Amino acid sequence: MIVGSGLFGSVFAHEAKKLNKTSLIVEKRLHIGGNVYTEAIEGINVHKYGAHIFHTSNKKVWDYLNRFAEFNRYTNSPIANYKGEIYNLPFNMNTFNRMWGVVTPEEAKLKIEEERLKYKTENPENLERQAISLVGFDIYEKLIKGYTEKQWGRPCKDLPAFIINRLPVRFSYDNNYFNSLYQGIPLGGYTALVENLLEGIEIRLGTDYLENKKELDSLAEKVIYTGPIDAYFYYSLGALEYRSVRFETEIIDKENFQGNAVVNFTDAETPYTRIIEHKHFEFGAQPKTVISREYSAEWKKGDEPYYPVNDKKNNELYLRYKDLADRERRVVFGGRLGEYRYYDMDKVVEKALEVAEREL
Ligand code: FAD
Ligand code: UDP
Repeated sequence: MIVGSGLFGSVFAHEAKKLNKTSLIVEKRLHIGGNVYTEAIEGINVHKYGAHIFHTSNKKVWDYLNRFAEFNRYTNSPIANYKGEIYNLPFNMNTFNRMWGVVTPEEAKLKIEEERLKYKTENPENLERQAISLVGFDIYEKLIKGYTEKQWGRPCKDLPAFIINRLPVRFSYDNNYFNSLYQGIPLGGYTALVENLLEGIEIRLGTDYLENKKELDSLAEKVIYTGPIDAYFYYSLGALEYRSVRFETEIIDKENFQGNAVVNFTDAETPYTRIIEHKHFEFGAQPKTVISREYSAEWKKGDEPYYPVNDKKNNELYLRYKDLADRERRVVFGGRLGEYRYYDMDKVVEKALEVAEREL
């Protein structure tokens, strides 16, 4: 029994089938793919649950997925819009030049070092201090603080430093958002990739495992559960915190709305965090365009959980749930929600392959 048809569940199911094991996937949504699901609108593959750019340095994972889809050469280079001023991301010489007029890496490093001393950011233990230590106060103020506080709904001082460490800081004029060796978007969208993974596997859509647990458990020897770990235990130790996102999608009768796939609005006042213009992921030339504005919100029961809030309090609660999970002999917990970890897609595939090898 595989609960959830996201990347974790789908990779596991594929591996099980290869070994002639029979599995059944139950998925509470009305479609497969979990958060990587894409849907064609006006001939454009729309990332329904937010922009998904595949990137990895793990050759095994890259080669594995390339068996199920061909990837294009898309390189993510988001733009930050701060009250009409445009900056390149991730933080690199283009950003530093626009912010301070510095031209050489040496000048940029000197400028950041000055700020580091001014704001005494040794041993940066929270996101604010870590950000100032990495890129200085001006960039923190204009490109990080507003965006991060909208995204996470908490002051930067109360957020863990690791969140900002996801972004590269580069002293070169390179706008590639990722340092990974391989990057791209599957041609034809992620849904087609997942369909290929799931070929020949039985799936029940619109079925909530937890609401039909008794009946479904009686069908299987083993359960792979990729839903939220706290939901599995009916929140008996209290709810873990998540951030949810509301996507407002609009078809626009224009060929090109913003000139880039991802534009982040980094001021505190704009109510959304970013606008995605989906056609740019596949260099589309369709006559119309589709955009999605992303509004971040605190998760409450009934919403879709997207981002685990991996601060100290939640990580401790997670460990207590993990203790319970370890005692469920027939059940393996996996994926972003099952492990309550801010995993990217490549990590999820890597973990699913590992678990498949161990369990099968
Ligand atoms: P999910 O995709 O969440 O799948 C879990 C599935 O389980 C869902 O379909 C859900 O409906 C189902 N389910 C849950 N509970 C039940 C139940 N009780 N019964 C039946 N079914 C159930 N990663 C990148 O590498 N690059 C990116 O650019 C990127 N961008 C992202 C942007 C956003 C907005 C978000 C939220 C994530 C992003 N990610 C990105 C991360 C990526 O989405 C995840 O790593 C990956 O999709 C997780 O796969 P999963 O199978 O663990 O979980
Ligand atoms: N971030 C920011 N400004 C930006 C983009 C990102 O401050 O313009 C911070 C923010 O805290 C975010 C984190 O960097 O949560 C990681 O960004 P990433 O793009 O990896 O987030 P995701 O794609 O997972 O939403």
